[in-house]
Amino acid sequence: MTAISRRKGDAGDQKRAALSGRFTLRYAIALVLMAAVVIVAGLRIFASTERVRDSGLLLARAADQTALVYQIQDTVSKIDRDFSNPETTRTHLGTLDQDLTTISQVHAGMKNGDATLKVPTRPTISPELNEIYGNSTDGLDRTISQLTDQARRLETTALGSLGSKPGDWASLSSAVNDSADTVIQGYTKLSRQLEKELDKAVSDQRDAATLMLVVFAVTALGVGLGLFRPMARNIAIETGQLEEAEKNHRLNNERQTFRNTLKETLESADTEEEVLATLGRAVRSVVPDLRAEILLVNATESRLVRGADISDHGSPSCPVESPMGCAAFRRSQTEVFESSRMLNACPKLAARGEGALSAVCVPLKFRGRALGVLHTVAPDGHPPTHTQIERLTTVAAETGVQLGTVRATQSDRLQATTDGLTGLLNRRSLETAAKGLMSENRTFSVAIADLDHFKDLNDTYGHEAGDTALKLFAKVLKANLRPDDVAARYGGEEFVLVLPGTNIREAQAALERLQLSLAAEIERVKGIPFTASWGLTDQSAGSTFDEMIGVADAALYSAKRAGRNCIYVDGEAASAYQELAPEQIWDDGAGDPGAGPPADDAPLIQIDHDLLPPSITSRKPTTS
Ligand code: GH3
Ligand code: MG
Ligand code: MG
Repeated sequence: MTAISRRKGDAGDQKRAALSGRFTLRYAIALVLMAAVVIVAGLRIFASTERVRDSGLLLARAADQTALVYQIQDTVSKIDRDFSNPETTRTHLGTLDQDLTTISQVHAGMKNGDATLKVPTRPTISPELNEIYGNSTDGLDRTISQLTDQARRLETTALGSLGSKPGDWASLSSAVNDSADTVIQGYTKLSRQLEKELDKAVSDQRDAATLMLVVFAVTALGVGLGLFRPMARNIAIETGQLEEAEKNHRLNNERQTFRNTLKETLESADTEEEVLATLGRAVRSVVPDLRAEILLVNATESRLVRGADISDHGSPSCPVESPMGCAAFRRSQTEVFESSRMLNACPKLAARGEGALSAVCVPLKFRGRALGVLHTVAPDGHPPTHTQIERLTTVAAETGVQLGTVRATQSDRLQATTDGLTGLLNRRSLETAAKGLMSENRTFSVAIADLDHFKDLNDTYGHEAGDTALKLFAKVLKANLRPDDVAARYGGEEFVLVLPGTNIREAQAALERLQLSLAAEIERVKGIPFTASWGLTDQSAGSTFDEMIGVADAALYSAKRAGRNCIYVDGEAASAYQELAPEQIWDDGAGDPGAGPPADDAPLIQIDHDLLPPSITSRKPTTS
């Protein structure tokens, strides 16, 4: 049992260790994945953010450049308007020059990067941007250069003719305006492209963030599952074990309660009948719908005898006769037979003429010795359930213990109260019985018998023959006394009778019957002949039982002295004979000559002469 539970524990630990190992590996993989995803997505977000910032800066600069180009066109028209004023013209030309320088610087910065300008330090030029900046006819590099060249030429021309408009002014300013328009278109294109790239960068940033979120969520879920699944599995295992333990605990409780109730009930049964009646009630409660019987081993342990009914559906009538013919008895264990058709079924079950059956047979034991078998049958293939079998085993075990105990107690009690050889009460029980009668103020007579010449019988025929004679005498006593009468072996070959509610006359009649019965029984069994002498008295002999015994013993002594095989009455009781009818009186002295003395072999009833009134001396037995 212990070994089984330890094995279970080891398996559980191994399982938990495996689960925890698997969990650690999964957790590590998930963490690495998550870290990788966070790094990749973070880098992507970082790069997109750079691009967003660069595009934003470039867009702002493109707007500035466009504004500057418009300003150049505006300055050109102001020069045209203020040409007559050389001072103003010079100021306008200074502004124009400044703007042209700024445009070129900013353009170069936007393309190549410049830490001093508000442009990206290391701008990324996409092929589209490269195309817009590039050397195509409408590329910004060329158109800005054209604009600068034409504007510078216009400047030079204007400075050369301050105060008066030069002749080619119209074509020069028109060329500058046209180039300025081309540059504005270029920056418009550039702005659109930059907006596109900004959108793309923003979208990339969003995608990376989304990806990071998704992967993060998936990883977190994976980690969560990796973390919680083994935990959940562990919890499920532990819960299962707990449920199992709780179920076992409940079953154990039920089992224990059943056993305790049964035990208590059995302990209050102090006879074999009561024990078997309790067994019957228990069996009916365990298998109320099944036939059951109890087969008990007989006193000589040679046969199995069917006990009292223990089922409301009748007995299965197992034909087994000897204890060793029963498999459960032989193996001293519970036997379950699923079907009488099976090869290993009990032959006693298979032999029944009522069709296929299942059966359970449980031996009843006490201190290792089988006392009987509890047998129940059920439909074929449907033996009693595991719990029922377990209960039947408990019922048999507890009943066996109580049956054995009751039998042992009864045997102890018998040994303590009876004489082993004759089965009569012993001296102590006799005294107890007599005292009981006295305490109830019941009247009784007391008689003592002593077998005559018993020593000679022993010496002549042997001690065993003496024992046989003692048993025969006891048997005669038991057979002829009333249920209320008490017969005891008082000593070696001395016996005492206590006859409640019996006066001397009735007692004497009873003793006479005993004398005759003894002779008849010896004759019947062709036994060694022997006789007994009796001393009889009643409560007039004394106030204690010992005093009564003393007087009866004195009467017995008189009977012996008078020649044995007769009954003597002593004490006050002897006066009862005064009332005897004259023809019943036999005087061994000068009495009735017609009656004469008793023959040698005739049993006599005699009365102690000394204690009787003069008219009464002795009496013949009524039967002679
Ligand atoms: P009496 O007629 O005077 O009583 O003669 P008796 O031989 O019976 O007298 P005694 O008391 O001398 O002898 C009794 C004998 O009974 C002696 C003893 O060996 C025998 N005896 C006592 N108990 C048993 C017993 O249990 N079994 C046998 N076989 N003999 C017993
Ligand atoms: Mg004696
Ligand atoms: Mg004797």
